[in-house]
Amino acid sequence: MDSVDEEKLARRAARLRRRKAVVDAAIARADEERGVVIVITGNGKGKTTSAFGTLFRALGHGQRVGLVQFIKGTTTSGEIAFLEQCGGDVRYHAMATGFTWETRDWEADRRAAATAWTHAHEMLRDERLDLVVLDELTYMLKYRFLDAAEVAAAITARPRTQSVVATGRAAPPALLEIADTISEIREVRHAFHAGVKARAGIDF
Ligand code: ATP
Ligand code: MG
Repeated sequence: MDSVDEEKLARRAARLRRRKAVVDAAIARADEERGVVIVITGNGKGKTTSAFGTLFRALGHGQRVGLVQFIKGTTTSGEIAFLEQCGGDVRYHAMATGFTWETRDWEADRRAAATAWTHAHEMLRDERLDLVVLDELTYMLKYRFLDAAEVAAAITARPRTQSVVATGRAAPPALLEIADTISEIREVRHAFHAGVKARAGIDF
């Protein structure tokens, strides 16, 4: 190795040390203990799977979890089937009508959304729940089945130790404003557009 390479390596090492010092200082400053609101939005694949990753992570720590699925497909998803198999401390509600994009019965959907919200709101007031997952919540807000301000207020008023994960495309400003963590999953490519059929274990 010539001296140019050595110099380069030394400079890189110094840069990494400086960066680590900055990160360490930030870690030392982060001393607030409270639950957080996480919004996973955007058009890319990975929102619901991320929410369930968090849910299983919480269950792994023996925590109690609440789960409301605002749009449930007609086939049972692998994550729900697995939850049913392994038990775990989960309160679960799925929106009743099998809300679909072809629906013409807006009133029935509105009632189903209101019922699902009643369950979600109860969970958001339950001190025993460490995590509440509100899967596909954003669509309820986008199509005004639920009032975004009311939903945001209820999430904000949750117990201090409780965390919330909300998913769905096009999260509205009212939800983004109260979020501690926001991840926007950008679609770079999706197999579906190349004609690949949705697969068990991958898509549901
Ligand atoms: P996943 O449940 O796989 O994490 P998601 O929650 O990010 O996906 P949704 O918008 O809820 O995405 O859509 C759910 C279904 O649509 C899944 O079967 C998923 O694979 C599929 N999907 C997600 N993104 C796209 C996309 N950009 N184009 C086509 N299908 C998609
Ligand atoms: Mg989803």
